[in-house]
Amino acid sequence: MATAISDIKQSKEVKQSKPLPAPNSDFYQLAETLNTEDLALVKQVRAFMESKVAPIINKYWADDAFPFELIPAFKELNIGGLGLEGYGCRGGSQKLFGFVMMELARIDPSFSTFFGVHDGLAMGSIYLDGSEEQKQKWLPQMARLEKIGCFGLTEPLVGSGAAGGLTTTAKREGDTWVLNGEKRWIGNAPWCDLSIIWARDLADNQVKGFIVENKTTPGFSVEKIEHKIALKVVQNGQITLKDCRVPEANRLQAGNSFRDTARVLRMTRFMVGWMATGCQMGAYENALLYSQQRQQFGKPIGSFQLIQDLLAKMLANITASQCMLLRLADLDDEGKLTDQHAALSKAFCTARTRETVAWARELFGGNGIVADYNVARFFADSEALYSYEGTYQMQNLIVGKAVTGFSAFV
Ligand SMILES: Cc1cc2nc3c(=O)[nH]c(=O)nc-3n(C[C@H](O)[C@H](O)[C@H](O)COP(=O)(O)OP(=O)(O)OC[C@H]3O[C@@H](n4cnc5c(N)ncnc54)[C@H](O)[C@@H]3O)c2cc1C
Repeated sequence: MATAISDIKQSKEVKQSKPLPAPNSDFYQLAETLNTEDLALVKQVRAFMESKVAPIINKYWADDAFPFELIPAFKELNIGGLGLEGYGCRGGSQKLFGFVMMELARIDPSFSTFFGVHDGLAMGSIYLDGSEEQKQKWLPQMARLEKIGCFGLTEPLVGSGAAGGLTTTAKREGDTWVLNGEKRWIGNAPWCDLSIIWARDLADNQVKGFIVENKTTPGFSVEKIEHKIALKVVQNGQITLKDCRVPEANRLQAGNSFRDTARVLRMTRFMVGWMATGCQMGAYENALLYSQQRQQFGKPIGSFQLIQDLLAKMLANITASQCMLLRLADLDDEGKLTDQHAALSKAFCTARTRETVAWARELFGGNGIVADYNVARFFADSEALYSYEGTYQMQNLIVGKAVTGFSAFV
C-alpha cells in the first residue's frame, strides 16, 4: 500500500522545469515559536511518524488492528507524561504537548488518539485527581509506557449527559468499593492495563474515579467494539463491571465530584483541537502533492483554478486552527484556560477539520475513497474527532452558557 506522503512524491514525479514547492502546512511558521529543544523533539516525533508509522498504518487501519509492533520504538521517543511535571513524566509546556499531538495526527489520528487517551485522559486523571501516593505509584510506570491506561466515562445509555446522568455505581464496603455498570467507547480498553472508571457513589450521589487493573480485577470484562468506520486503529471497548471490587487505595483521592472529572476533560478537549489540526495538515499535504502530480487535460490538476481554490481554503482552515490553539496554549501555560476556551477550540477545529478533509478527498477524485491514498483515512477519522470528548453541540452549549449567562443544557 502507498502510505507515506514521500512515497507518493517519489513514485509520481512530474517533469518540471523548476522544482515545485514542497507541501508545508505550517504556512505562518508557527513552529518558529518553539524553543530549540522543543523544536528538536517535534522534529524527532515527525521523523518517527514518517519513517515508522506512515509505511504501515493503512494496513492496520483496513484490518481494524492496533500496531503493537510500533510500541518499542515509540517508547524510545521518551514522551510519556508529556505536559505533566514530575513522577518520571516528560513534562514540557502545553504548547509542546499540542505540537506533538498535532505531529502524531498529521500522519495518523488513531495513533494520536491512542497516546492522548493514555497520556491525557488516563495519566491526567491520576495527575489531577490522585493523591501524592497514587501519583508516585502509577505515573512513573505509565510514563515509561510499561502500563497503558484508558478512561471510562461514557456509558451505553449516557454520553453527552454524563455530568448528571452516570448510571455506573460505586458502593463502599469497608476498605473496598464495589463497582457495577457498563462503559462504552473506551479507547485502548480491550488491551490496556489500567482503566480510570468514573462511577456514582451510592452514598453521596457524587461521581468518583477509580483505578481498575483490567487484567487482574475479578468482575471486570471488556469486549472490542467492531465495525467502526473511523479511528479504526484505536481499539474501543465496551466494559462490563459486575460486582467489581477495588480497594479504597485505588479511588482517586482528590476526585470528589464531576467537577474533578471536568478538569481532566478541559485539558484533553483542547488537545483534540491540536489532533484535529494535525488531521487537516495530513489531508492537505497529501492533497497538495497529489495535485502537483496528477495530470488531467495534459496538465497537473494543481494548475487548475478550482483546485487551487480548494487548497487555499484548506490552508486557511489549518492556519486559523493553528493560530487559535497557539494562543490557547499560552493561556493554558499561564493557568488561564477555562472550560469555555477549551470548548470553543474543540468545536471550531473539529468543524474546520470536517471541511478540510472533505475538500482533500474531493481533490483526489475516485482515488479519494481508497485507503491507499491516505485521505480516505483522514476523512473518516475526522468524524470521530468531531464527536468524541464532547460533541460539537455540547461544546457550543458550554460556550453559549459562558457568553450569555444562560444555561441551555436540558
Ligand atoms: C472513536 C471514539 C472514541 C471514544 N473514546 C472514549 C473514551 O476513551 N472514553 C470515554 O469515556 N468515551 C469515549 N468516547 C465517547 C464519546 O465521548 C461520546 O461518543 C460522546 O461524548 C457523545 O456521546 P454519545 O455518543 O452517547 O452521543 P449522544 O449523547 O447520544 O448524542 C447524540 C447526538 O445528540 C446531540 N445532543 C445530545 N444532547 C443534546 C442537547 N442537550 N442539545 C443538543 N444536542 C444534543 C449530540 O450532540 C449528538 O449529536 C469515544 C467515542 C468515539 C466515537
